[in-house]
Amino acid sequence: MLYIGYHLSSVNGFLAMGLEAINAGANTFAFFTRNPRGGKAKAIDPDDASALRGLLTGNNFGRLVAHAPYTLNPCSDKPNVLEFARVCMEDDLKRMEYLPDNYYNFHPGSHVGQGTEAGIEMITALLNDILSPEQTTTVLLETMSGKGSEVGGKFEELAAIIDGVELKDKIGVCMDSCHISDAGYDIINDLDGVLDEFDRVVGLDRLKALHVNDSKNPPGSHKDRHACIGEGELGLDVIGRFINHPKLTGLPCILETPNEFEGYKREIQMLREWK
Ligand code: FE
Ligand code: FE
Ligand code: ZN
Repeated sequence: MLYIGYHLSSVNGFLAMGLEAINAGANTFAFFTRNPRGGKAKAIDPDDASALRGLLTGNNFGRLVAHAPYTLNPCSDKPNVLEFARVCMEDDLKRMEYLPDNYYNFHPGSHVGQGTEAGIEMITALLNDILSPEQTTTVLLETMSGKGSEVGGKFEELAAIIDGVELKDKIGVCMDSCHISDAGYDIINDLDGVLDEFDRVVGLDRLKALHVNDSKNPPGSHKDRHACIGEGELGLDVIGRFINHPKLTGLPCILETPNEFEGYKREIQMLREWK
């Protein structure tokens, strides 16, 4: 079963997201847990959450992949920025329990000159602070493009973070096709080799979700600019092979391409028909 959807807006609440996803032919989706630039989260309407839960079950959806605000920096050199990341993620995990058993994905952040090792330690410390045995959400580290001082552009960095996390059953990885190509992993010519390497370094059992994006830039560019499927350096066939790879079967696939509703609907259909 291919679980595919896209990152949609949460402005109209939970149920509205599920209904939009169904209209687009999706059977999973992603959303920001709060304003993507950070800031205050809307209060949760429990009835709305419950209505969405019913809709998802009734329509055989795969797991959802909520996205933390991308301005969070869990390895900043500024104490107030670090504290914001902690408070925000802790609160998001509480909110996620209204939609239990889903994923919450975040960017490991940028170490801003403190060094990768220091960054990894700060991210690990933060995770050990906020993860709890009771939570039903699995928190996912996103593979990054390695832009600037970003942590997570190398599989080894993700492995080191996971290694330091105490509650290992609460942590996993979300692999972004644009980001890993930009980071220099050659999924165009050697997808099997890249997945083998991920398995060796991190373990494929940790891989819980895929971000499905074409890239505006060539492999190894460390840029992180998403392109629509088939309009970038990866192309439709590389993406088709990626999401249909036998080792990745059943993982929720989330489009984060520069599209509106019609564009996403088209891409979902195109990827479902891809052979
Ligand atoms: Fe992301
Ligand atoms: Fe992504
Ligand atoms: Zn990106």
